[in-house]
Amino acid sequence: MHFPLDPQPGPAVADAGSPAYLAKLNEGQSEAVRALDGPVLVLAGAGTGKTRVLTTRFAHILLTGRAAPSQVLAVTFTNKAAREMKDRIAGILGRPVEGLWLGTFHALCARILRRHAERVGLRSNFVILDADDQLRLVKQILEANHVDAKKWPPQALLSLIQRWKDRGLRPGEVGRDEMAEFAGADAATLYAQYQQRLQTLNAADFGDLLLHCLTLLREHADVLADYQNRFRYILVDEYQDTNVAQYLWLRLLAQGHRNICCVGDDDQSIYSWRGAEVGNILRFEKDFPGARVVRLERNYRSSSTILAAASGLIAHNEGRLGKTLWTDGNDGEQIRLRAAWDAEEEARWVGEEVEAAQREGTSLDQIAILVRAGFQMREFEDRLLALGIPYRVVGGTKFYERAEIKDARAYLQLLLQPDNDVDFERIVNRPKRGIGDATVAQLYEVGRAQGWSLYRTAAELVGTDELRPKVRSVLSELLAGFERWREMLRTAPHWEVAGVVLDDSGYTTMLQNDKSPDAPGRLDNLREMVGGMQEFADLPTFIEHVALVTANDERSEGERLNLMTLHAAKGLEFDVVFLPGWEEELFPHMRALEETGIKGLEEERRLAYVGITR
Ligand code: ATP
Ligand code: MG
Repeated sequence: MHFPLDPQPGPAVADAGSPAYLAKLNEGQSEAVRALDGPVLVLAGAGTGKTRVLTTRFAHILLTGRAAPSQVLAVTFTNKAAREMKDRIAGILGRPVEGLWLGTFHALCARILRRHAERVGLRSNFVILDADDQLRLVKQILEANHVDAKKWPPQALLSLIQRWKDRGLRPGEVGRDEMAEFAGADAATLYAQYQQRLQTLNAADFGDLLLHCLTLLREHADVLADYQNRFRYILVDEYQDTNVAQYLWLRLLAQGHRNICCVGDDDQSIYSWRGAEVGNILRFEKDFPGARVVRLERNYRSSSTILAAASGLIAHNEGRLGKTLWTDGNDGEQIRLRAAWDAEEEARWVGEEVEAAQREGTSLDQIAILVRAGFQMREFEDRLLALGIPYRVVGGTKFYERAEIKDARAYLQLLLQPDNDVDFERIVNRPKRGIGDATVAQLYEVGRAQGWSLYRTAAELVGTDELRPKVRSVLSELLAGFERWREMLRTAPHWEVAGVVLDDSGYTTMLQNDKSPDAPGRLDNLREMVGGMQEFADLPTFIEHVALVTANDERSEGERLNLMTLHAAKGLEFDVVFLPGWEEELFPHMRALEETGIKGLEEERRLAYVGITR
């Protein structure tokens, strides 16, 4: 057995009694930190200090000289959470540490994979594909198989593939009974072709980062032994949201030293739609016999009023382990339930409350607005801008910077300023009209020679035979559309025109036919944008407003209010939290209920539990 690195001698252990950082823990927490040998599971409700246990344990391992910084593997769910853990560890150590294996599953797997890429048929400079690239690839596979994409949406195949990857299944490992017929072939065969293609391209998608890493460890005993030896300690936050592939990966790595500590809360499992299996928690003791299970019941974050509300709500769920939570803090303020007439009134009220909190000395960094669906952010962003309150969107994109909103905005701006080439180029082939880069290049070339904009060039060329007939007809149709919409703008309200532009241009249909999971959300966003336009006198005022919201982003550091989805809020905490839009169909979300029924409802409750306990 060899160790890649010797542990650092580390500073002397404060062996007289317990070091200061342990004194800051309660008994259960301290037990979980000090139980360094063997598997440990901390199973506890929100705000009980699970993450604090992990960071303190990390520091404790280093300070007692049990391992060097590079011999501890710490996994969490988001980059933000990883940064915070790193800061907390540095805080305890009193100095920053480098070379940590601390990050998200994806980041850590990518790091391992780059070192051994050739073992799984890749080169170390492999590219990581984003969602668009993946979909394009799947489309190519389907075309090669002469599959009618209208009947068999590529996104459906991609989702199947992703679910298999979440479960750690390679093409050859998909069970007979679940090969899922797709377009008369079995989908697992198409999956195999997709993987083949990725390999040829020296590319990996997100699921592959884990899948390949699993293959690497399973099939290369020397590599596995190396990492099993290296990682003397493994720490996992938000364990309830791991999927099967992540679970298998952890289990393989932990088999060496068996020093794995997982912390989680079954009531906060909110990613089943991405393959998370809460069963991983329940299985822990079976996989790691003799595991020490620590339960923490004291909550340090919330008032007893808030805890009572959260506990009361989650008690309605049937499939849960059940746990008690208490706090010796005071009752705190009553939770305020406020009914608003509509989203605008809601945003206005929240805005006033934020200003009041600011006057009382609350930092904007400590205030959060947590929404169920992305489109809800629009109303708040507009209000915050009007009030001059800086904000950030955590784990996502600001409303007006989302791709579909930018597309819509480009269309609308072209009504006012047809000569804006950036906008024209953005939308000329969105939705797809068969206008490729070559045509755009041709337009640019002619335009440059004549001193014309793209729009004008297109208008001039459709009357000649410079362009292919197909391109000519498509372009003249688009230009005729613009003429019509511009005409309409003279008499009809601008928001109505916006709706017509989206429908007539084929943009709405494009999203309706798009089977990717985020397409319905994009449609919601567009609907929200069109609705929101009514608050502005005319189109130019609206466009000006959007330009300002976007410019607001340029402002540098400083305190900012936090705006995010409930999903992105997991593990975070704030002094003041607003939970808008708790109304039937929005939260609990209609689509969640339609798709998964009572299971979906239970997950919505867990999401609400996460929200209330922030
Ligand atoms: P979540 O389930 O939301 O992820 P958690 O269990 O990870 O929550 P932490 O974020 O670690 O909880 O802790 C919640 C808050 O309680 C933090 O502000 C933390 O600093 C504080 N806290 C935890 N343990 C103690 C303690 N023993 N004494 C004082 N404060 C504590
Ligand atoms: Mg936590």
